[in-house]
Amino acid sequence: MNIIMLGAPGAGKGTQAAVLCEHFNIPTISTGNIIREALRTGTEMGLKAKSFMDAGQLVPDEVVIGIVKDRLQEDDCKAGYILDGFPRTIPQAEALDKMGANIDYVIDIEVADDVIVNRLSGRRVCEKCGRPYHTESLKPKVEGVCDDCGGALVQRKDDQIDTIKNRLDIYHKETEPLVNYYKEQGKLVVIEGQDTVADTTEAVLKAIEG
Ligand code: AMP
Repeated sequence: MNIIMLGAPGAGKGTQAAVLCEHFNIPTISTGNIIREALRTGTEMGLKAKSFMDAGQLVPDEVVIGIVKDRLQEDDCKAGYILDGFPRTIPQAEALDKMGANIDYVIDIEVADDVIVNRLSGRRVCEKCGRPYHTESLKPKVEGVCDDCGGALVQRKDDQIDTIKNRLDIYHKETEPLVNYYKEQGKLVVIEGQDTVADTTEAVLKAIEG
């Protein structure tokens, strides 16, 4: 099963990807997490991506396409995978098609912009494993500590208010055209983002499993 999670930043792609990853026992490939890890460890790719990422802009297509191409060749992707945050532009989607990726479902989680701004400004993530939390709606058991791995919860630099607005603008301009792209391929499943994570998960699983 090969799945793409589509939707604005903060729509809940990462959270739903984590659920699907466990449910189907397939890996999640998050280009954002891969780039953040490269940045943390100071690789050349990380350094190249830093200024784009900090400003909430997209990293150039050729960089992310290269990342995904390499990652999809690893053994754990043979039984399927979930792409979270890729593709984000039409050229990226075309490159994925050229790689021969057989995508089964494109799950588009739709959430209004004002809800997104509220969610992202309250988002905290584990600096070790990337698991997302929220200051009001998705608190960890112990404040500031990841339930899964004990890592510290931090606010992403690009979750600050001006950067969030910039990311939303870019989403509407560059990424939203993918909705039609995948609709035309007959792969699109639109899910209205619900108030709770559990309700959204139920809708996602129902769309996939019937
Ligand atoms: P995310 O964690 O998915 O919100 O990604 C964080 C940031 O990483 C984005 O704002 C971009 O700067 C960069 N990024 C992640 N995925 C992509 C992609 N597919 N194309 C371009 N830039 C990306």
